[in-house]
Amino acid sequence: DRKLLMIPGPIELSPAVLTALKAAPPSHVAPDFIEIFGASLELMRQVWGAGPKSQPFIIAGSGTIAMEMAVANVVARGQRALVVNTGYFSARMAEMLRRRGVEVGEVGAPAGKAPSLEEIETALDSAQQDGRAYDALFATHVDTSTGVRVDAQAIARAADRRGLLSVFDGVCATAGEAFEMQSWGADIYLTASQKAIGAPPGLALMVFSERALEARKSLSEPPPMSVDIEQWSPIMQAYEARKGSYFSTPATSLVCALFASLSEITAFEASGQRGIGPRIAAHQRCADGMRAAWAALGLELFCEPDLSANTMSALRYPDGVDGARLLAGIKARGVVVAGGLYPGRQDEYFRVGHMGHVIERPSLLAKTVRAVGETLVENGHPADVEAALATLR
Ligand code: PMP
Repeated sequence: DRKLLMIPGPIELSPAVLTALKAAPPSHVAPDFIEIFGASLELMRQVWGAGPKSQPFIIAGSGTIAMEMAVANVVARGQRALVVNTGYFSARMAEMLRRRGVEVGEVGAPAGKAPSLEEIETALDSAQQDGRAYDALFATHVDTSTGVRVDAQAIARAADRRGLLSVFDGVCATAGEAFEMQSWGADIYLTASQKAIGAPPGLALMVFSERALEARKSLSEPPPMSVDIEQWSPIMQAYEARKGSYFSTPATSLVCALFASLSEITAFEASGQRGIGPRIAAHQRCADGMRAAWAALGLELFCEPDLSANTMSALRYPDGVDGARLLAGIKARGVVVAGGLYPGRQDEYFRVGHMGHVIERPSLLAKTVRAVGETLVENGHPADVEAALATLR
């Protein structure tokens, strides 16, 4: 008995993506597959808002591999990076940078909050004044541990104005949150296949700007071969030119699923508009609806409401409600949500993903709200389930 997966990734897949997954894995140099790979790279440029001189990459791997590729290709031992730390995944990014021998500065905030633009700019400028200017800035677009979204546009512009590379972890954001790589002057936007991109886990996806490609060329030591974009760029360029090429076998089945999903995302239509913009607006509408439903159930957000993401909600357990019992009761009603993830604060809240295919399925959203609401009532929290469901309509 399969349960509805409402965690912040992996997510429920659309019927078209499931169909794409059913076929036997094609050869990586079959003409049909070359077309699918090349077209997927082109669709990524649309979803990322990336310019013609940028380079998209589709690599077998997880979001963590995408983070590793970003780190390994733009900075090396002795360089400096500023990490905008909004939680668990920013901390991972900082640790990756340290392991690469990079000197890391951090500008953070308490759990559920984000540093202001002013704090970030001050950190950049004071390092510059001390003669220790940063080479790159790293930020997590949506931190999945808290549901906090940073102002990626303002941060990218602040870095760009200072001639600094900016790298954004979009694993819990890409295709669900606005991001315009070229017009904002961002240099790397990375994600994984299993969240708002709407495919199964297993693909690391990233787009490098021209400046990020140049940064790799001027590194003092090359990255490990398997994550080196100098190995991968010619392969991606060949596929985009509809030619087969080989460096390391692509995850062919997953690329077929990715193509199905990117095709749906870029063909998305709402109120007479088509493409990624309306798709993101639909995520925002869905998030607003879910948030109204949570409020009607008497639940509070773990993060500052102004910072809450389109793609997920982090919700405090009400006083007197046992977290483990709540999650078990929700599961017994056929819906899987996730526990907390912020180090030391895991027992205070739970997380619900609302991204991809489900945003257009009111019945699945209602099932989720009902499961959470009924379990709250069962656990002694007076929640008005019908009022919550009414806010969704
Ligand atoms: N960054 C963020 C913001 C994430 O949410 C995740 C996964 N939850 C990752 C990185 C790591 O991705 P993966 O689990 O695919 O390695």
